[in-house]
Amino acid sequence: MAAAFLVALYEYSPLFYISVVFVCFLITSGLVMGWFGWDVPVILRNSEETESNVKVSQRQMRQVKNPFSLDIKNQAAASVASGIMLVSDCLADCLLTCYWGCRVQKLHEALQKHACCFRIKTPQAFEDAVCDEYLCRQQYHIKKTDKEEKLCVLPGEALIADFGPVPRSRYPLVALLTLADEDNREIYDIVSMVSIIHIPDESYTLSCRILYQYLLLAQGQFHDLKQLFMSANSSASSVLSPSLGEGTDAHALLKRAGLAEDEPEAPEESTRDCIVCQNRAVNWVLLPCRHTCLCDECVKYFQQCPMCRQFVGESFPLSGPKE
Ligand SMILES: [Zn+2]
Ligand SMILES: [Zn+2]
Repeated sequence: MAAAFLVALYEYSPLFYISVVFVCFLITSGLVMGWFGWDVPVILRNSEETESNVKVSQRQMRQVKNPFSLDIKNQAAASVASGIMLVSDCLADCLLTCYWGCRVQKLHEALQKHACCFRIKTPQAFEDAVCDEYLCRQQYHIKKTDKEEKLCVLPGEALIADFGPVPRSRYPLVALLTLADEDNREIYDIVSMVSIIHIPDESYTLSCRILYQYLLLAQGQFHDLKQLFMSANSSASSVLSPSLGEGTDAHALLKRAGLAEDEPEAPEESTRDCIVCQNRAVNWVLLPCRHTCLCDECVKYFQQCPMCRQFVGESFPLSGPKE
């Protein structure tokens, strides 16, 4: 029926036939486009556009100036028998107090005490908070510009060869950094830093490492300091983390920063390139994996971390938008 009509139409006038077919085509394509909302059908869209529509939420961060920094030098060589080399690089004059064999339970109670009423701003306050439940202590004065290493050795008279089998009731070493000057405690929000350090001994040979670092705030909160993972880029690692001493090889890729509330630690000097475009500087931290590998532009396109493929729950920038 339709075919006979078309043939008759063609015989009547080929030009009229062509214009009718063309009009029908326009109407059909108009209907199809209208159906998809004048948009390109889903299968033709490329994946990048799809991802940019779904925004990863940005975590609100507060920058806090952290006057403290403590790291272990030559981790492999540290042991209870030979001692441990601590390197601190502080923004103000500090007191480094090392407590050997501090009781685990008392330490965590002390952190709770700090949160409720009893602020730990001085070594004396810390000792009161842990009820003197440690084996021995050593104290060092750290000058503002001083970056020297302190060798911390368990004194012979303590008569301790090891801290017993796991699970243990005492941490091998707790290093407390506090501000030496009374006035400085008014300037900085963070009043002390507690580093819990594992040191290998005869009964537990796990290599030496910092287990936890807590930043204690003057207002009573305390935060667990977390590391950010950046791609190992030899040209930039020394620039970015001077506070880590010579960058203990495998850990040269780490930059220290608080997870919940961050210390700025000169992020603008980052010269690392974004691992995606290799062009702009890395600026975004992805959570929860803490990989720091994307620039301001590329971060828009990723719902999964390009380094570990983990889904990105939240993200935050190291530095605000540049003018
Ligand atoms: Zn990029
Ligand atoms: Zn990741």
